Amino acid sequence: MWLQTAPHGFNLEIMTAPETHRRLAAVLQSAEKGEGLGGEEIRFLTGLRDREHLEALFASARRLRARYFGEKIFLYGFLYISTYCRNNCNFCYYRKSNRECVRYRKDAGEIVSAARALSQTGVHLIDLTMGEDPEILNSGKGGYDWLADVVRSVRDETGLPVMVSPGVVPEDVLHMLAEAGATWYACYQETHSRELFKRLRPGQSYDERWNGKAAAHALGMLIEEGLLGGVGESGNDLADSMEAMHRLEADQIRIMNFVPQCGTPMAGRAQSSRLRELVAAAVMRLVFPDRLIPASLDVDGLAGLGERLDSGVNVITSLVPPGKGLAGVAQSSLDIEEGNRSAGRVKRILSENGMRAATLEEYTAWIEQRRSVVMADRSPRWSAC
Ligand code: SF4
Repeated sequence: MWLQTAPHGFNLEIMTAPETHRRLAAVLQSAEKGEGLGGEEIRFLTGLRDREHLEALFASARRLRARYFGEKIFLYGFLYISTYCRNNCNFCYYRKSNRECVRYRKDAGEIVSAARALSQTGVHLIDLTMGEDPEILNSGKGGYDWLADVVRSVRDETGLPVMVSPGVVPEDVLHMLAEAGATWYACYQETHSRELFKRLRPGQSYDERWNGKAAAHALGMLIEEGLLGGVGESGNDLADSMEAMHRLEADQIRIMNFVPQCGTPMAGRAQSSRLRELVAAAVMRLVFPDRLIPASLDVDGLAGLGERLDSGVNVITSLVPPGKGLAGVAQSSLDIEEGNRSAGRVKRILSENGMRAATLEEYTAWIEQRRSVVMADRSPRWSAC
């Protein structure tokens, strides 16, 4: 008998090894039968430490991925179009007060050219991400109109679905972006603990951020919600986040480990283990078997991809073209100029792991099917936790 300790010091319960084994088998079986998981089961799973138990969790996540997606993996190109930001998130390299980070704002021509280069490599989507750049987030000509025009141009030029990640914007702007052809709106809460949110995103509104995603969904856009791992969240927080994302009916769900950034208040905080991110991703697959769950090249580059594939993810994000002066988010330069964040290198790893890049038709078919679910189910059920 031993005291099993979940991540972040959350104490589970005292169980013997055979009891843990039996309980794990029951929880995994229930998830694979589609019976759903409650908070208690999620806390139990995120607290697993034993290698054999973790292998069973990852294997279950892979079986569910195979059931819903086969061997297909979707690839997302990533363009960080502006590194200016009006906010001061304590974890972020691009926070307004950080004088150590490189600032740039790409013009429309540069963005379209980089998107074209990415599209020619076989990615399935172009993700246009930016800090909350005050020069863009305004109603002037270089503002929201410009952003909508960029979305339209990238769509027209590449023929690919577009994800926009501009931060918090008014509902009419979401409408403009949807009209311009944006398929996805991504705006991560990072945590669903209001207390932790205040510490991570000082001066920002939890509800405004949450409500923007609900509004985008109501407009027929697909939404991505995300968590930042290793920033002081408890096992309970993780379970609450799964429940919140379930309520939001997020179409894509991600967890990404915190990477300490120089020049920020959290620069001295230790980076949490990759295993915690992998476990959370596998639990996400059990809770959201039919959704998209990405692994980002932004945390560990190409080197961390194999293990992330083993945890049940089905999207690889943050493919960045070299030679365009573009940055990543959590790792501003890792693997970019070396060409390691390219579709070619990722496809090699996929094939070594028995997976393959999906076709564009397969990706757009998934989007259409998911959109039909979202449009059919636009009841006003979204409320902040
Ligand atoms: S996380 Fe986003 S909103 Fe926060 S400082 Fe960084 S770029 Fe700005």
